[in-house]
Amino acid sequence: MKTRSKIVLDTEPEKPYITLMKMKIEFIADCIHLLNIERPLDLTISQVVNDWDAQYQDMGRRHEVRVSPRAARCRLSLIAHELVHASVGESHPHASDHGRVFKRTAKRLQKQLTQIGWKLHDKIYIKGVDL
Ligand SMILES: [Zn+2]
Repeated sequence: MKTRSKIVLDTEPEKPYITLMKMKIEFIADCIHLLNIERPLDLTISQVVNDWDAQYQDMGRRHEVRVSPRAARCRLSLIAHELVHASVGESHPHASDHGRVFKRTAKRLQKQLTQIGWKLHDKIYIKGVDL
């Protein structure tokens, strides 16, 4: 049985909520396409249980991403950042967290997203912050 990706948007009611959801889903779809992510993805935009703004976990056959709606960093670049982890996890399972492959993939994705019209207010990989 083929499993599907699951996207949960559990944000505080924001104005304009629907537009925000649609925009994020389109953005996530573009990232998945550009990064060639093949495994199903469980992405939740919700208050994270720990102190992190976002987290990625390799669940073996699936990817799990959680992003806080209250993150200080540009949410789109944060989502893209976690999806780069998912992509690197598939293509280079032994690569280090923010190593050479990650930086290269993040830089390429940043360029491609900008080219298709997305405006990211932060870098997908921030030197000195993403350790
Ligand atoms: Zn990271």
